[in-house]
Amino acid sequence: MDKEKKERNRKNEGNRKSFRLSLQPGIIVLLVSAILIGLLALGIVFLLSGCGTKQEKPKYVFVFLGDGMGINQVASARYWEAQEREQSAADSIWNASSFDSFPVIGMMSTHNMDLTVTDSAASATALFTGKKTGNGSLNYNPVTKEWYVPFAKKLSDNGYATGVISTTSLEHASPAALYANAEDRYDYPEIARQGITCGWLDFWAAGGFYREEEELLEEAEKEGFTVVDSPDELEGTDGKSLPVLAVARDDFAAPHMAYEIDRARRQQYGAREISFADLVKQAASCLQETGSFFLFAEAGKIDTACSNQDLVSSIHEVKGLDDAVAEALVFYKEYPEETLIIVLADHETGSLRIGSKIDGSAISGQVASRVRFEKIMKELYEEKADFSEAMEKTEHYFGIAKEDLDSEEQEALKDAYEETKKGAETDEFTELLCEMKAAQVNMEFVSGSHSGQPVPVYAIGCGAENFAGMYDNTKIYEKLSSVMGLR
Ligand SMILES: [Zn+2]
Repeated sequence: MDKEKKERNRKNEGNRKSFRLSLQPGIIVLLVSAILIGLLALGIVFLLSGCGTKQEKPKYVFVFLGDGMGINQVASARYWEAQEREQSAADSIWNASSFDSFPVIGMMSTHNMDLTVTDSAASATALFTGKKTGNGSLNYNPVTKEWYVPFAKKLSDNGYATGVISTTSLEHASPAALYANAEDRYDYPEIARQGITCGWLDFWAAGGFYREEEELLEEAEKEGFTVVDSPDELEGTDGKSLPVLAVARDDFAAPHMAYEIDRARRQQYGAREISFADLVKQAASCLQETGSFFLFAEAGKIDTACSNQDLVSSIHEVKGLDDAVAEALVFYKEYPEETLIIVLADHETGSLRIGSKIDGSAISGQVASRVRFEKIMKELYEEKADFSEAMEKTEHYFGIAKEDLDSEEQEALKDAYEETKKGAETDEFTELLCEMKAAQVNMEFVSGSHSGQPVPVYAIGCGAENFAGMYDNTKIYEKLSSVMGLR
């Protein structure tokens, strides 16, 4: 026996001796009481955590990420819904059937390793590795040259099946942070190939791939993925189909999924397309057949809508997130003691300001995303159509009629239209319309960029209480690892 071991044994022996010496009758009573109080406290912890007494850690974990979703992106949707319900000022604006009603609320700072304002890659890296990095890096530290282990590998090592869903593309920054390592988040084909070959993704879904889509889908099939791209094919998947790669293409937003405002409108006219909520529902159903699962689901187009300063589309994206969370809540109600649902954000986008009196009818008047409207307008620019034709489209899709505008506004819009028709680099006409729409609603984007505002975290279910309070986004990784018992 070496010296160190002998020393350790001697110390342990000493501890046992002092324990025997202290067992006096009075102290026994104290000890038993302490044990009873301890057990009672443990019971209270179980009750608070929502976990069943047999189930210490959640078997099913949903993490929803609203990309660019600050508290005002949520509030703008809620003020509109409240007006639609014609409720009184004294009633709560918060959505009682969505994540607003979750019993645990937290707040996170989102700065990256050197800037107050993060991008999606650095933020998702912090959320799922617990380590900071610079903008543009995925699970990589450009200063120390250290590669961080992707969360999906950790999940796989711990026996969790993994689902990764995004309303953007399959290899966009936030979903990619779950499975890929990249010095540059825009290295799309390389990131896509990591997703295909890593073996950690059991259900992977989004609008499509940015580049080389046909080749990549073929490669995925060769790697064993069941590739589906229609609502019927998606509904036909089950646990035996895993790994599944689902593609929900859209003509206007590709390779992202459709903006919710456009998809919901087509649905009103009878079109059947894969929605974000459909993907969450199907992923949970398939993954559950394997046992425990972790499902990451990103509402990625709140960010793109806010970057476009397209307020009404952002509001509809929050509603799309509500619908997806509703599917998780159906699952939670069936397995309340084994399920944890978290809704969080990676950063705020646009520094959205809410004005003194919101006009909900102005929100209802817009029925197409900025992206879709630009495609419609492109035809008019090419045809060199008159401004009056542009205003007809504007009234139909944006709910802004000529008579809603004063002469100065009409003049500005006409100038923007003529400039764009002449071949301006950006669609100045639609850009100005979005600005006017926000003003009509009485909200305003300070910029089209990310901001450094802290973002909310909502939690319900087994282990939810760990997500209360104010903390940094790196703590999400620590909290998840601890709650899920990840090694
Ligand atoms: Zn983001």
